[in-house]
Amino acid sequence: MTRMAGDSRAAANAATVLRTVLEHGPVARSAIARLCGLSPAAVSRQTTGLLRSGLLRELPGPADGVGRPRIPLDLHTGPVGGPVAAGLHIGVPASTFSLVDLRGRILARRSFPHQGRPPAGLSAEITAELGRFLAAFDTGRPVLGVGAALGGWVDPDTGTVVRHPALRWQRKPLGAELATALGLPVRVDNHARAVARAEILFGRPEARRSLVHLFIGNVVDAAFGIEGTVHQGPGSAAGDVAHLPVPRSPTPCPCGRTGCLQATASDAALGAEAVRRGIVPDPSVNLLVDAAATGDPRADRLLRERARAVGRAAALLLDVFNPAVMVVTELASVLHEGYLEEIRGAAAAFSHVCDDPGRIVGPHAGPAVLPEAAATVLLSRVFRDPFGIA
Ligand SMILES: [Zn+2]
Repeated sequence: MTRMAGDSRAAANAATVLRTVLEHGPVARSAIARLCGLSPAAVSRQTTGLLRSGLLRELPGPADGVGRPRIPLDLHTGPVGGPVAAGLHIGVPASTFSLVDLRGRILARRSFPHQGRPPAGLSAEITAELGRFLAAFDTGRPVLGVGAALGGWVDPDTGTVVRHPALRWQRKPLGAELATALGLPVRVDNHARAVARAEILFGRPEARRSLVHLFIGNVVDAAFGIEGTVHQGPGSAAGDVAHLPVPRSPTPCPCGRTGCLQATASDAALGAEAVRRGIVPDPSVNLLVDAAATGDPRADRLLRERARAVGRAAALLLDVFNPAVMVVTELASVLHEGYLEEIRGAAAAFSHVCDDPGRIVGPHAGPAVLPEAAATVLLSRVFRDPFGIA
C-alpha cells in the first residue's frame, strides 16, 4: 500500500511538472519549483524521468557555468524525436485523422469521407484508413497513442461507445478494437468533452477555472469543466443536451415535443431546412455556409436563425453553470465572426445572469478544433499521468 501511495504521488508530481512546463516553458528547474510549489529535489527527480521518457527536452542554456538548475526545459516538440499523438474524429459524413505535438499543434491531417457507407463495416474501414495515414506521415517521431473522439454517449473509462444513434453503434468496444488493430495505446471520449479538454490544456487560461462547451454538429451535445477537470458523471452520461428546450422554436422533435435543441439546430436539421427553402441542392451545412459567403441573403438569414437558436440554448447553460468561458463549436460562427456575434446577442437577450456575452467564444483552434480535440483525448491523459499511458 505504501508503495502504491508513493507511486501515485510521484505520478501526480510528474503531471504537475509537465503542466507547469506546458504553461510556462521554456523554464528552468528552479523556476518550475517556484511556480508549482514542489521542492527542488522533487522537481529534479521528475524532470529526470520526463527527460528520459522524451516528453521534455533541455534547450541550449546560459553558458556561464551556473549549472543544471538554470538550463531551460521545454516540452519536446522538436522535429527529431519529439513525440506526437494521433487523433481520430469520427463524424457522421466523414472522419478526420491528425498528428498533433505536445502543445496541441497540428502537424498533419486528412479527411476520410464515408457518408452512406454501411455502419457494420465502417469502423474497420476507418481503422484501416487511419493506419495508412499513420504510415504515410511516419517521420520517425514516437507516436504516444491514439485519441479518438465522437458524438453520442461514450464511456472513456472503458473505451466503449455506449450509444451513437446516427452511426447505429451500441456498446461498441471502439478503444479495444483500435488498440488491437493499430498496436498503440488508445483513449476514447465524447467529442464535446474532448474539445473541453483541449480548451483547458491549450486554450484560454480562464478555461481552466470553469467552462461550458456547446457542440452543434449533426449531434448536439455539451461538456462542463471546473478547476481543470471535465465532468463525466455516473456512466459518463453527462452532456446530452439534444432535448434542451429552445424558446420560440416550433420545430417538432422525434421525442414528441417541439423546440428541442437538436431537432431545431443540428447540422442535419439545418441542411434539411436549407433544401426545403431551395437554397442548396443537398442538405449540407458546408454548401449553405459557402452560399452565404458568396452573397446569398437567404443562406445568411437561415444561418442567423440557427445562430439565434444556439444563442438561446447557450443562455440556458450560462444561467445554470455561470462559467468563466463558454465555448461554442458551430461551423458558421467558427468560420465567420458575424454569426458568433449573433449567438452572443441572442444569449445576452435570453440570459438572466450574463451581461458580458464576450465570454462566449469559438474554440481556440478555429477550424482545426476537431483534429486537435481528438488527439487531446490521448494528450490529456499524458498530462494527467505522464508515465501511465502505455
Ligand atoms: Zn426532443
